[in-house]
Amino acid sequence: MSEGETVLRLAGVTKTYNAGLPNEVAVLRGTDLNLRAGEAVALVAPSGAGKSTLLHIAGLLDTPDDGTVEIGGQDLSGAPDAARTGVRRRDVGFVYQFHHLLPEFSAAENVILPQLANGIARAAAGARARDLLDSVGVASRADHRPAALSGGEQQRVAFCRALANRPRILLADEPTGNLDPATSDRVFEALMALVRGEGLAALVATHNTDLAARMDRVLRMEEGRLVG
Ligand code: ADP
Repeated sequence: MSEGETVLRLAGVTKTYNAGLPNEVAVLRGTDLNLRAGEAVALVAPSGAGKSTLLHIAGLLDTPDDGTVEIGGQDLSGAPDAARTGVRRRDVGFVYQFHHLLPEFSAAENVILPQLANGIARAAAGARARDLLDSVGVASRADHRPAALSGGEQQRVAFCRALANRPRILLADEPTGNLDPATSDRVFEALMALVRGEGLAALVATHNTDLAARMDRVLRMEEGRLVG
């Protein structure tokens, strides 16, 4: 993947919940997006504007009513579930506000398990986990379970897990929303180091305009469309 190549493209995406009912809500009304390899883009909008809906559609967890979702130049909006799941597993990493780490496994195992599920040998998966944990400053916590880690450490492990299988796209939904400002800052720096180091295309929904301003571009959601 060469730097600057479009990896994720949304064109004319629409999504309405409860269509035809009194509580109908037209969340996306013709959303366009080009996300390129190597860039981190902030998605800023108030709560309820449709950020999660957009991230779910972009990450193939949900389908649009209309419009196209292309990953690596392939239109997947109407593709069969098996094809969408395959691309999602291979190309997309997700990070949420809450880490969802497996509580009964160590930090390292949480990063290793998705790789084993993807057919990677244990030794290689372990090496990849160590490298990732090291790059975000939590290598010394590798053998601890999530409950023994601070909130910031847990979230850094969650980033490593999201990137374990070398996706091309990282989609993050308020990844620092649950952290105090100082921790949020450190966790954000770790996220950006990973994005840069891995040459990822990253779309990061955040309320934090200071963090947003430190990304390559800021997109705002207005009336169901993205504006730069
Ligand atoms: P954000 O992530 O910006 O807070 P969301 O994408 O979660 O926004 O939600 C956008 C709007 O769509 C909100 O009004 C929300 O209540 C509504 N919504 C989200 N998911 C559903 C759903 N599954 N069914 C009905 N309404 C939904």
